[in-house]
Amino acid sequence: MNQKELERFKEKIIKMRDEVLNSKQEDRRKETYRETSGDHTYSYHIADQGSDCMENEKSFLFASLEGNVLDDLNDALMRIDNKTFGTCFMCGKDISIKRLEAVPSAKLCIDCKSGEEKEQI
Ligand SMILES: [Zn+2]
Repeated sequence: MNQKELERFKEKIIKMRDEVLNSKQEDRRKETYRETSGDHTYSYHIADQGSDCMENEKSFLFASLEGNVLDDLNDALMRIDNKTFGTCFMCGKDISIKRLEAVPSAKLCIDCKSGEEKEQI
């Protein structure tokens, strides 16, 4: 991977990290709102799920994995700095750019990953 590509992924990962951090702040705001308004907020959220599916899925993902996601993204940034980004931890081969586009924090190439955890990307 060349320097230009590394820079591009670095920007992408920093953006993703910002998104995670922003969504955490958003969750805290929602939490406060829920506490002050009682059960009505809960039913509203359920009713709203169909219209804003992507956003809900994303917040769910961030809520359940937020610690891991942040760690993974910080990890990926470190790997960019020490030039090990894009190299598979297990076999040492290059991880495909296409895969990194989809999962910038990927540590394993698709072959090693699919061998290890079939149900995940
Ligand atoms: Zn591999």
